[in-house]
Amino acid sequence: MYRISLSNTIRLSTKRQFSTTSSNLVNYGFVGLGQMGQHMARHIYNNLETDDQLYVYDTIPKSVDDFVLNVTETNTTNRDKLTKLPNLKSFVTDVDGQLDFIVTMVPEGKHVKGVVEDIITSFKENGYSPEYKTTIIDSSTIDIPTSQEIHKYVKETIPEFDFIDAPVSGGVAGARKGTLSFMLSRDNHQDISPALTVLLNKMGKNIFPCGSTHGTGLAAKLSNNYLLAITNIAVADSFQLAKTFGLNLQNYAKLVSVSTGKSWASVDNCPIEGVYPDANLPADVGFKGGFITKLTRKDVVLATDSAKKFNRFLFLGDVGRHWYDKACERKDIADRDLGVLYEWLGDLKQNENGDIIDVKGGQK
Ligand code: NAD
Repeated sequence: MYRISLSNTIRLSTKRQFSTTSSNLVNYGFVGLGQMGQHMARHIYNNLETDDQLYVYDTIPKSVDDFVLNVTETNTTNRDKLTKLPNLKSFVTDVDGQLDFIVTMVPEGKHVKGVVEDIITSFKENGYSPEYKTTIIDSSTIDIPTSQEIHKYVKETIPEFDFIDAPVSGGVAGARKGTLSFMLSRDNHQDISPALTVLLNKMGKNIFPCGSTHGTGLAAKLSNNYLLAITNIAVADSFQLAKTFGLNLQNYAKLVSVSTGKSWASVDNCPIEGVYPDANLPADVGFKGGFITKLTRKDVVLATDSAKKFNRFLFLGDVGRHWYDKACERKDIADRDLGVLYEWLGDLKQNENGDIIDVKGGQK
């Protein structure tokens, strides 16, 4: 059942007047209950204060139903504070008080753009109180120009509102555990409002202000994920080389973990099975789950495209992108954790003409 919609005038004059007796009242919206969003929204739900409300929506109704069932079964206390909405316009028309924050966690820039345009249009059509500023927090990983365009659109349409890029690192495991790191286009912690800090702390552990210009959060995210993607290729190379030399790979992995080759890709996501049996790494479960190769490719594409737009030549940009493009031609590689590139490299052989042959996939 959807909550009965009140007229905007009534909503603003009733709930907000009572808000003087409850300084904690915050209305949250969440759009996109996929792999990441379902966990982030769950943490918001579990950490709602007495008078807070959470409104959720996804284009896939089953994702919303599953989310609501899952969180309300595990935590019955906040059941009445959660409402599923039928569409994006209802984030304005079907809520009990203007939303303070709307978090978006959707795949690409075009999705974020569509979501924000629908919500802002609904505000324009149905009214809003500039006194209660609505801030849209976009945690999706998207390209910087689209995010800047959306920011400009929001500021030009309703200047009192805000749209902030706040991408995350930590992956699905971090989202599940509530340990995500947020990267924000803000100069320092003082520039992040206390209410926003409270919201981000419900879902994550670290908040990194990355700069005053809109898009710096995404710039930090793309720079980091480019580094991850490239070190991941180097780790695959290094471990296949060690294998060719006949080294004991578990011993080699332990050596790397205390040597100069140490990185997240070589240690925390070590591609060799059984090195860290208690850590439940993707390598121990056939690289299932984790941060899948096609999402890594997406970030490499965003990073290298942005580099071109900003006239920044990268040593390994084209090479890295080439190999992630090729890796994603094989579905079994594309859909598994990026550590699988080590395994995939084992399938690649160079013939006498210098061509690279994928023994399980075809010519590369
Ligand atoms: P996902 O595909 O699992 O989830 C996206 C959700 O958004 C889906 O449920 C989809 O139905 C919904 N959606 C799409 N368009 C929508 C719209 N117009 N309105 C409402 N809902 C809509 O993706 P994910 O893995 O959760 O990732 C989301 C974003 O976070 C992506 O930008 C991704 O790059 C980024 N990210 C992912 C990870 C990760 O490890 N999966 C880590 C960091 C960042």
